[in-house]
Amino acid sequence: MIRLCSQHGFFRGESCECGTVGQFVLDETKTEQLGRLVAGALRHFPEDLGLSMDSYGWIDLNKLSEIVNRRHPWANKRTIIALVQSDPKKRYEIDNTKIRARYGHSVDIELDHPENKLPKLYYGASEEEADRILEIGLMSVSQHFVHLSTTQEKAWQVATFRTSNPKIIQADAAEAQREGVKMMTVNEDIVISEKIPAKFLKIIPAKDILRPKSHPN
Ligand SMILES: [Zn+2]
Repeated sequence: MIRLCSQHGFFRGESCECGTVGQFVLDETKTEQLGRLVAGALRHFPEDLGLSMDSYGWIDLNKLSEIVNRRHPWANKRTIIALVQSDPKKRYEIDNTKIRARYGHSVDIELDHPENKLPKLYYGASEEEADRILEIGLMSVSQHFVHLSTTQEKAWQVATFRTSNPKIIQADAAEAQREGVKMMTVNEDIVISEKIPAKFLKIIPAKDILRPKSHPN
């Protein structure tokens, strides 16, 4: 559910961090429906929806609003802005009249996020996946970039959606970038990277993994 706090803007859930209940904007089901359509438009099939995307992934926000509204009459520019501003994963960004996904594209675009500055990055994987990654390198099958986490804790958290006992792979980002692997900072949690060759990767021994405090194992 999306609600609006008069102090802090749009938020997800029952109450804002400040405790305010705020004003109702969109229920859970509609948030999900809108989220799916916006993700499709900005990451996967803009052309199928009649949208034109520039080479950096930007789409006209008014145009997107029109198309979204045609499919879901309850949705409009305001609900799109609410979706973007309340998104816990910060998937999208709005720049005046334009909107784009920050990452996760299957369409081929040039992203121009700032270059990664962190020397080490992390990726959580199942045991099987981890073995394969250490052999052939880390890449995305379906997308141009692979997503890495900025901390071990975040990598652990992401991976626990897929596997109960993740292996955490550490990438020597600084060294990989020196050798020409392009890595960009998407937000404080995520860095996207071109394929990282196996020589820059290693597994963090289970006893040394820093896990989130809420998941004591
Ligand atoms: Zn608030």
